[in-house]
Amino acid sequence: MTLNPPATSFRKPVYLDYAATTPVAPQVAAKMAECLTLEGNFANPASRSHLLGWQAEEAVENARAQVAALIGADTREIVWTSGATEANNLALKGAAEHYRTQHKMGGHIVVSAIEHKAVLDPVAWLEEQGFAVTRVQPNSFGVIELDVVQAALRDDTFLVSIMQVNNELGCINDIKAIAALCKSRGIWVHCDAAQSAGKIAVDAKELGVDLLSLSAHKFYGPKGMGALYVRRAGDVKIAAQIHGGGHERNMRSGTLATHQCVGMGEAAEIAQHNLVSDAARIADLRDALWNGISDLPNVQRNGSTTNSVSGILNVAFATDASNGCDGEALLLSLRDLAVSSGSACNSASMSPSYVLKAIGLSDAQAQASLRFSVGRYTTREEIEFAIEHIRSVVAKLKKA
Ligand SMILES: *Cc1c(COP(=O)(O)O)cnc(C)c1O
Repeated sequence: MTLNPPATSFRKPVYLDYAATTPVAPQVAAKMAECLTLEGNFANPASRSHLLGWQAEEAVENARAQVAALIGADTREIVWTSGATEANNLALKGAAEHYRTQHKMGGHIVVSAIEHKAVLDPVAWLEEQGFAVTRVQPNSFGVIELDVVQAALRDDTFLVSIMQVNNELGCINDIKAIAALCKSRGIWVHCDAAQSAGKIAVDAKELGVDLLSLSAHKFYGPKGMGALYVRRAGDVKIAAQIHGGGHERNMRSGTLATHQCVGMGEAAEIAQHNLVSDAARIADLRDALWNGISDLPNVQRNGSTTNSVSGILNVAFATDASNGCDGEALLLSLRDLAVSSGSACNSASMSPSYVLKAIGLSDAQAQASLRFSVGRYTTREEIEFAIEHIRSVVAKLKKA
């Protein structure tokens, strides 16, 4: 089932799906364009024999510093990747392979049950390769509690992977506490920060994590670009998963895409600069949206209202017949809004969101839930339009 079939009207849908991806900021696009053509900074950043190569390298290293600054890291701790999916794969498989090389056997990995598929799938693959895996459950707000992680740890646990912000609910985990617990046991911590970086303050050192994944297109940079933070310390070692040329200090080979690096760097700097003001404005708009629909019969907000990033609003629309409004019909009728049913990756299938089910929703409630995500370019007019659109669709469905 597709939740938003092609609109029959000519109106461009109001975009409320910023958690799925963001448009590239105009200043970012302009900087990227300067790194493509003959007149621009197009050379191979690994070319050491001419000025053009050095200039490309300088642009890449400047961008690396911008990304490092966003997360309080050293430039030598940033490894460029093609996105958070690759960063997660490199972190998890790289750490596991290193562990197996050292110990001649598979150890134990703890992961949350509501991670993005870009964590769950590589971990499932490692499980097939002989590693033991425990998937810890969230509380009813979607938060992974410290004692749940603690209870899952074993003597052979070497890696814990917990996301900082959940992509469907927006709830924030206490990564600092989890990392402190793991550190005391000599366990590495990986954090998928794709939904937190650029939205809340993220300081890798203060969090105390060993590995942290970033995605440029979640903070107004280009798709197909990301980075993995690898803590610079003697004991943190990951095995490369892509070989060939020894780029990125042998952790990730491949000619660096200057325009992509520059785009991510610029987007990181803008996000950092606007972090507080963006978050406040976005929270206002999200609250306005919720206030505009919360009095509709039997709607319920999924996740935490307080411990959450500013942009995400996940709402269950009633599915029972008593109020005369079928949740799924509602979703199908909201053609003038671009929104998600849970994670964008689930939208193509009928299966209810595993995240919403994990926090206690029934299949029907999960299927009647919508994720609205507000972003930097959302306007008050768009929010007002969305409220009216939702209300009129609900009213129509009730009459039918
Ligand atoms: C978007 C997202 C990813 C995947 O990032 P890509 O850069 O698209 O590969 C991973 N984890 C979370 C939490 C995300 O939101």
